[in-house]
Amino acid sequence: MIELTHIEKRFGDNVVLKDISVTIAEGTVTALVGPSGGGKSTLLRCVNLLEIPTSGAIRLGEERIEFAPNRKTGWDAIQRLRRQTGMVFQNFQLFPHQTAIENVMEGLVTVLKWPKDRARARANELLEKVGMAHKADAWPATLSGGQQQRVAIARALAPSPRVLLCDEPTSALDPELAEEVVEVLNRLAAEGTTMIMATHDLRLASKVADQVLFLDGGLIVESGPPRNIFQTPQRERTKKFISSLN
Ligand code: ATP
Ligand code: MG
Repeated sequence: MIELTHIEKRFGDNVVLKDISVTIAEGTVTALVGPSGGGKSTLLRCVNLLEIPTSGAIRLGEERIEFAPNRKTGWDAIQRLRRQTGMVFQNFQLFPHQTAIENVMEGLVTVLKWPKDRARARANELLEKVGMAHKADAWPATLSGGQQQRVAIARALAPSPRVLLCDEPTSALDPELAEEVVEVLNRLAAEGTTMIMATHDLRLASKVADQVLFLDGGLIVESGPPRNIFQTPQRERTKKFISSLN
């Protein structure tokens, strides 16, 4: 279970996340949608502590960390929590000087100190899962965006994180390539991968998410299953946003 309790995040005087509380069950997919600047990326970055929340608490499995403005969060705790997360970015961010399989092996070898053989076997398994085994020895620059993103997903999953965090995983891709990535994420969801994804891609959210959080001004304005949020939104703000997309 992932539990965010009264998460607040400030950058100076700018309160970017105001009071976010949400519980996410294992094996479910949560989509963060809403206008630009609403706080989606910041919320994802708070979950893996790329940003340290100003206050509130995060529980990820056994790990629980409380944050307060004048309390320094211990590095050990940050590492323990972060290691339970995997992150996928809009622009893939593969290591350019490593092949696809080396990208997937990297964290296993350097962070988790796995022997190379074991890491290679695991990486092969994951490339297989995302339909990229045939490109294991390819350089990132020779892959399409959709292929790079699928390798990035394999890399994020390599250490078996408790949750996969995706920030706009399809936004940099043409529709056809986005579809490849949607298919992979959909398959992972069906296998029970816990995911939180920020996305403007309502098709992705509709297809893959169990729950949608509509974020605006640093607050969860409305939440529910995709069908409810996208077809019968209740709040004026949500209605306006959804209709602006159509
Ligand atoms: P988009 O849909 O454009 O990706 P978003 O919902 O992901 O938007 P965030 O990137 O989380 O929005 O940004 C929310 C607010 O936080 C914005 O006003 C942004 O300027 C501010 N912000 C984000 N990161 C920082 C930072 N490191 N320092 C200062 N302000 C920041
Ligand atoms: Mg964002």
